[in-house]
Amino acid sequence: MRKIQMVDLKGQYTKIKDVVDSSIAEVLDNTAYINGPKVHEFQKNLEAYLNVKHAIPCANGTDALQIAMMGLDLKPGDEVITADFTFAATVEVIALLQLTPVLVDVDPKSFNIDIDAIKKAITPKTKAIVPVHLFGQCANMEAIMEIAKEHNIYVIEDNAQAIGANYTYSNGKKAKAGTIGHVASTSFFPSKNLGCYGDGGAIFTNDDDLAHKIRGIVNHGMYERYHHDVVGVNSRLDSIQAAVLDAKLPHLDAYNKARQKAAKKYNDAFKVHKNIITPSMNSNCNGICESCDCHVFHQYTLKIKDTNRDALVKHLNENGIPCGVYYPIPLHLQKAYKDSRYKEEDFTVTNQLVKEVISLPMHTELDDEQIDFITSTVINFVNSHS
Ligand SMILES: *Cc1c(COP(=O)(O)O)cnc(C)c1O
Repeated sequence: MRKIQMVDLKGQYTKIKDVVDSSIAEVLDNTAYINGPKVHEFQKNLEAYLNVKHAIPCANGTDALQIAMMGLDLKPGDEVITADFTFAATVEVIALLQLTPVLVDVDPKSFNIDIDAIKKAITPKTKAIVPVHLFGQCANMEAIMEIAKEHNIYVIEDNAQAIGANYTYSNGKKAKAGTIGHVASTSFFPSKNLGCYGDGGAIFTNDDDLAHKIRGIVNHGMYERYHHDVVGVNSRLDSIQAAVLDAKLPHLDAYNKARQKAAKKYNDAFKVHKNIITPSMNSNCNGICESCDCHVFHQYTLKIKDTNRDALVKHLNENGIPCGVYYPIPLHLQKAYKDSRYKEEDFTVTNQLVKEVISLPMHTELDDEQIDFITSTVINFVNSHS
């Protein structure tokens, strides 16, 4: 059996080495390292793939979130609602801009921001909601857009983990994750579903004025050279990373399918086990999709019931199976984001999830033998320890 990895970037690269290498070689040849033609080509191809009017490349996914919020002119003291159970980048950027983060609980099935919790958290100061499409599956965007419309607030999708995923509306219409809210951010961190070979990110919007504003912000607030109209940042996707991404973009759907196939094989193996709760593939598809393309499995995350999760992590690692706990600590309990406003009873789901979740190896190069070994190792452990 091949060595099991959490992500297999080398295996994936080997299969497309020729196109990636020649795409990078073009940049080395034309030396347009910053804002070169490759960046523009990738941007156009990404806009076409997502069916979004504007994609604005930037340096990473965290910058993308920050720039999106700057573009919306959010002001210190404005409240921004986001999920308690996610990576810290979202709340970090809110705090950095001196906005007021309002963390809320998540849905136990989808792991995504809970709709009733959002409703409860809205105040006259609420200016935006940031749903994070966690682990590769969209939050309930239809409900979120309705709340936003009713209260006249913005929706910023953190799409770092769900690029290429579809969202299915209750009328059956589909849209790509990251094209539904007023603006969205994504990350091209190497292990993301569309990853480059360094740092990268992008902002998406269908709003022409906002896109124009954001194009200035990413480039020192310049709309005309050496005229600084707004306070900006320096946040660029470099041409070599764009070359990698442009070579990989045509494979994104196949990559996501490979992840779905691995997830399905995991699900089938764990299906009947009462202490192993498999991820729901279509909890936000309004009951329309049976087996669908709405979850692109950035992570494959189980809930382990009545078993010592940390002992399972240790056992897997000892058996050559890497795994992760995403995420071990709720954001509202992190030192940097603690706040006396928060009440523990408002975070019952997150507080439980941090004890139960485990993410198994998930990438485009997993084979059946590896998955069989992983599933039988997990099942044997849970059987003998619960
Ligand atoms: C990866 C990630 C980010 C940050 O992306 P970087 O490119 O590492 O800055 C933000 N939000 C979520 C949900 C992520 O998974």
